[in-house]
Amino acid sequence: MQPIPSLGSLYIDFDAFFANVEKQVEPSIRMCPVGITALNSEYSALITCCYMAKRAGVKRGMRVHDAREICPNITIRMARPDIYVEFNQRIAEQINKHIPVKKIWSIDEMECELIGRERGRAEDIAMAIRDDLYRYIGPYVTPSIGLAPNQFLAKIAAEMEKPNGFVVLRAADLPTPLFRLKLTDLPGISDNMQARLNKAGVMSVQDFWNISPKHARAIWGNVEGERIWAQLRGYRVEKPPIKRRMFGHSRVLSGAFKHPDKAIACLRLLTVKAAHRLRREGFTAAALTVSFKVQERAQSSYGLPTYSKPKSFRWSGNAQFSPCRDDHSLLSHMHNLYNQGLQQTQPWRLRHVSVMLHDIATPHERGRDLFEGQDQRNWDILSDTMDAFNRKHGGAFIHLGPRPKIPGGYAGAKIAFGRIPDKEDFF
Ligand SMILES: [Mg+2]
Repeated sequence: MQPIPSLGSLYIDFDAFFANVEKQVEPSIRMCPVGITALNSEYSALITCCYMAKRAGVKRGMRVHDAREICPNITIRMARPDIYVEFNQRIAEQINKHIPVKKIWSIDEMECELIGRERGRAEDIAMAIRDDLYRYIGPYVTPSIGLAPNQFLAKIAAEMEKPNGFVVLRAADLPTPLFRLKLTDLPGISDNMQARLNKAGVMSVQDFWNISPKHARAIWGNVEGERIWAQLRGYRVEKPPIKRRMFGHSRVLSGAFKHPDKAIACLRLLTVKAAHRLRREGFTAAALTVSFKVQERAQSSYGLPTYSKPKSFRWSGNAQFSPCRDDHSLLSHMHNLYNQGLQQTQPWRLRHVSVMLHDIATPHERGRDLFEGQDQRNWDILSDTMDAFNRKHGGAFIHLGPRPKIPGGYAGAKIAFGRIPDKEDFF
């Protein structure tokens, strides 16, 4: 880990971005409370709303129908992602005039690294960026800017005084300003993680500051806890490359399970195992591969069986989707692919099946998905609840859909190089 600079990162997070972009492009709604949805329905949830609507009690995630009850004069607009992407690009151009954009974290969040002499004039750079955004992007698309030793703290600083905020957190100021935050204000701490921290006696950011890095790692169950602990102190933590990670299981089929209608049971089990490990290690997946080996029927000539070895070939298919981690979503992606594979190959028997989750990252690495709906969150909660119950009772007692006994016992606990299975692999 490198020494901590006083200021090393500039983070910009736009306020109620979609709603404010709509106000910028459509003058007639500038003085109205505005909410944005992804679907044209009174029952769809708001992806975001402007601060005027927030002050009236409207919240992100609220249904349009409910938002209208609280705030009868609210204007609802369908999201127009193409316009937001265009604004995102124009904003990056403006920032690049002053300092290179290091990473675009999401459509409305960008990070710049401060190096050398930039560190001494960080506040001037931030002010110049703000002026140019006002002039060239427009006064309604307001940014909140944070300056801090690293990206993690700069993101927190940008959130501290929204909207139109500007917060400078120097290394020497730490940790006092952080102690008025909630645990869930820290990037990477979800409601679930907060519950786990509380269980371990960590009730506040101050408590979290005072535990040891080893303790943080133990609470998370992986190195992510230690990373967050170090970043809170201002250290810059380099993340391992995302590419190398994947979660997969495969299985040789025997007996009746070679039949395509039965092999699916095995694939379901493999998918659920991989999804469980994915969640336990705190990741989401955005791609899935299903593959199987097709065994061709032995040809008989003139009614007489031949004794040549049956031929086989491999099929595989890949799906990409918005990041998820719950059993329901991953199982449905697997089912779709498997059905495609069956249609294309019309197999008689299958000899081998495998499923692989990839494009793996933590939710923190990806940033928040603004189009993630309540349904997705509910499936996440359901999977987490099943995991917690099964962990407590030491077996796979609750699961989605059928879970027949597969000959040959457990599916997920192969001992591979670099990974020793743990107890839960055997459920
Ligand atoms: Mg924002």
